[in-house]
Amino acid sequence: MDELDKARILVVDDVPEKLLAIEAILESLDQTVVSVRSGSEALRALLAGDFALILLDINMPDLDGFETASLIRQRKRSEHTPIIFLTSFPDDTFAVRGYSLGAVDYILTPVVPEVLRAKVSVFVELYHMTRRVERQAAERVALAEERALRLAAERANRAKSEFLANVSHELRTPMNAIIGMTELALLESLPPDVHEYLGTVKSNAHVLLELLNEILDFSKLEAGKFDLESVPFSLGELIEELVRTFRFRAVDKGLELTSEIATDVPDEVVGDPLRLRQVLANLVSNAIKFTESGGVTVRVARSIERHSTQLRFSVVDTGIGISPADQERIFTPFMQVDASITRRQGGIGLGLSIVSDLVRAMGGWLGVQSQQGHGSTFFVTLPLVPAGGPGQPREVPETHDSHAAFDRGRSNGDAGPLRVLVVEDKPANRDLVVRILTARGHTVDVAEHGREAVDRATQVTFDVILMDLQMPEMDGFQATAAIRALPGSTRTPIVAVTAHAMPGDRERCLASGMDDYLAKPIDIPKLIDVVESLGRPRAGAPR
Ligand code: ADP
Repeated sequence: MDELDKARILVVDDVPEKLLAIEAILESLDQTVVSVRSGSEALRALLAGDFALILLDINMPDLDGFETASLIRQRKRSEHTPIIFLTSFPDDTFAVRGYSLGAVDYILTPVVPEVLRAKVSVFVELYHMTRRVERQAAERVALAEERALRLAAERANRAKSEFLANVSHELRTPMNAIIGMTELALLESLPPDVHEYLGTVKSNAHVLLELLNEILDFSKLEAGKFDLESVPFSLGELIEELVRTFRFRAVDKGLELTSEIATDVPDEVVGDPLRLRQVLANLVSNAIKFTESGGVTVRVARSIERHSTQLRFSVVDTGIGISPADQERIFTPFMQVDASITRRQGGIGLGLSIVSDLVRAMGGWLGVQSQQGHGSTFFVTLPLVPAGGPGQPREVPETHDSHAAFDRGRSNGDAGPLRVLVVEDKPANRDLVVRILTARGHTVDVAEHGREAVDRATQVTFDVILMDLQMPEMDGFQATAAIRALPGSTRTPIVAVTAHAMPGDRERCLASGMDDYLAKPIDIPKLIDVVESLGRPRAGAPR
């Protein structure tokens, strides 16, 4: 037994031979025996340490056993230490006095070795059990304290993430207005230098919005408030749109940006197109950022991994590359390989951390292969499910340029002037939409909340209603239900517009009688596209 685990037994007797005899008897118990020859020595020993049991001779010069026992009991440290008296007189009055002083037993001397060992063993056992219980209690307390600390830390972290999410969300609303108004201003005929200034405002506002989105995503992922959609979408269109978005940036740096989709990849797949786009956009943006010559290629192929069919996206660049040590580190938040390069190029080191969390959430994995000075390839492998069952041939997607509506200038295409109701409580957002639609030649009415929208809809038959979801008085869902319940009304298309792009919102909107859904910040070409295609009268279609 470990010295520290042994019970300490204090033996007090003025006769050295008796002490030796007791020590010899107790030796086989393998505990620690401390022998002293007087009451005052015993008190001193008790000051220095704890004992499991005290064997106390009654008959001693100076302090006798009873006096010693009463002093032992007065001390905090030894007030509960069991005392067994040793006496050569089998006298009941002695025993009674002993018990009244808190003794637990008495033994007649000369002691019978078996009796002494048996009695001492009971107390040694008791001592060990008490220690065990104390230790377990202490461990439980420590565990509970640790858990409480961890919970408090988690709560604080969640509060921090929620705060970050709220702040970046609130910052996005004015950014939306700034970007929209700048885009509108750019449509005016302006002196060339003013046009250039506004162009700079616009591109910087986009950079700021991207940063805000990164912080928002990071804090949402941290706070565990992240859900994914599972909807059918066209891979071809997604990749094409991605390449189109980044082509200017690539061309600006003299880089080639291309995409290749293997022919055995189904076009219609099921997943979260927005998040997939975000992942690839991050990788393409990095590839362009860290490449000075050559080009960037986005590849999509089918691959079999762990016995299931997966889609493998690769973003290949011919840029500066990443050293093996840095390849391990770049996926952690706020980590950048060379701060001086990124300072020049922009970025806060959150991109890849978000990408890897997103990819993991989508059930896939992210990897990198790179050689310094020769370029990098980032891989994303995702278990995407074909929308119409496996083995569907891929159709080459029709080129669909969402900017076409805008490029046509201010004519409203085939739509003819439409009468549109914009329901939105925030003046800046309302203004933006009104200006965009008026610039397209449409007539626009406004309502500041749901109730006003319902009133307007009873007076006028609109071609399209744009409905904000969060509004005071009456929200977008209630207003839509009320408009749909109006007697004899033609079925005016209602489009939800919201900044709270929460998963399930789209379904909720469609279920509550709306026809489409636009997320804020408003994408101007998309807004025009949706309004004009829904508002356009179709021959024979009931409206
Ligand atoms: P940042 O916002 O700084 O770009 P990321 O998390 O996206 O943050 O990337 C982290 C770091 O990884 C970058 O700062 C850069 O050093 C390195 N990196 C990412 N992509 C590439 C690439 N294609 N080529 C070289 N280095 C890269």
